[in-house]
Amino acid sequence: MKAVCWHGANDVRVESVPDPKILNPRDVILKITSTAICGSDLHIYGGYIPTVQPGDIIGHEFMGEVVEVGRGINNLKVGDRVVVPSTIGCGGCYYCQHDMWSLCDNSNPNGWVEEKLFGNITSAIYGYSHAFGGYAGAQAEYVRVPFADVDVVKVPKDIPDEKLLFISDAIPTGYMGAELCDIQPGDTVAVWGCGAVGQFAMISAYMMGAEKVIAIDRFPERLELAKNFAKAEVINYEEVDAGEALREMTGGMGPDACIDAVGLEAHGVGFEDFYDQTKQKLKLETDRPHVLRQMILSCRKGGTLSIMGVYGGFVDKMPFGAAFIKALTFRMGQMHGQKYMHLLLKMILEEKFDPSRVVTHQLPLEQAAHGYDIFQQKKDNCIKVVLKP
Ligand SMILES: [Zn+2]
Ligand SMILES: [Zn+2]
Repeated sequence: MKAVCWHGANDVRVESVPDPKILNPRDVILKITSTAICGSDLHIYGGYIPTVQPGDIIGHEFMGEVVEVGRGINNLKVGDRVVVPSTIGCGGCYYCQHDMWSLCDNSNPNGWVEEKLFGNITSAIYGYSHAFGGYAGAQAEYVRVPFADVDVVKVPKDIPDEKLLFISDAIPTGYMGAELCDIQPGDTVAVWGCGAVGQFAMISAYMMGAEKVIAIDRFPERLELAKNFAKAEVINYEEVDAGEALREMTGGMGPDACIDAVGLEAHGVGFEDFYDQTKQKLKLETDRPHVLRQMILSCRKGGTLSIMGVYGGFVDKMPFGAAFIKALTFRMGQMHGQKYMHLLLKMILEEKFDPSRVVTHQLPLEQAAHGYDIFQQKKDNCIKVVLKP
């Protein structure tokens, strides 16, 4: 089959690789019909994620049709159309049983690598390095889906892929980001990053009762989408000081909750940006925590920070004293896709919102390298790329 393989920083290639096979009774093989490039794939593409090896198949946001079923699966059959969450959960461990699927104890066979780095094992993620399980990714014609009896949601056949695909990752990530804010009626929620996850976080925040949502980015086309699709008020941080603007827009208090939909490759302005960029290049810090710093400083006292952008290691110059003095609550983590997938499907079928609005580019799988390039460089007003195997 054809698959997108990583070969080093800013180097992905579509290559011929062996087809996946059923390895365990609870596996299915999926023929992929749509697979997206996620913002966190850009961290791999840029070479920021350790333990990715040349030749690894990447990609973790996908849907498709079941073409082969393991003998331990009773609830799926060949021909079923399904969406699959990015993180792999076994369904049986303490964490899966308590709906914390991305913290699964059993799905990551290379958990010892993580244990050394982080002190604990978390779930595997498709196509996201050997530390996260070494599973083949889903930017491919076919993929093996383990624990498929609990890890997929069946979807109807008469709805286009683009409305359903993001149940795999971007929608539950945004939704969980809003849920972690514990939004009260009348709250103002600020969202850093207006990519797909940010857009879905904004929509979710309104659904959960926020009165005002403020979007922060620097790309006019993304801010435009935040305005028109997510109905947010917007701040372009290259034009105005985001911290000052937030205070002004909230009567001097600051937002009640702040959502980070950016993560470790954040851009800042001025010396702070130069400092982080340089330290990251010299490998003196792994992550650029610009958004985290700004959230701590601009959130209202007693407010909540919800962190959904991916961080991988160590950050520097965190104003932790401010976080303490202001009595902020920090909540974060990889999304628990299996917890949300049925609810999100129901919302989409009820046409509460149209996720396909975030798609700016649909490309054949063969053009994956071009897709990564325009997404990383934000060329051609690129917001979200869907690859079609
Ligand atoms: Zn992702
Ligand atoms: Zn588990």
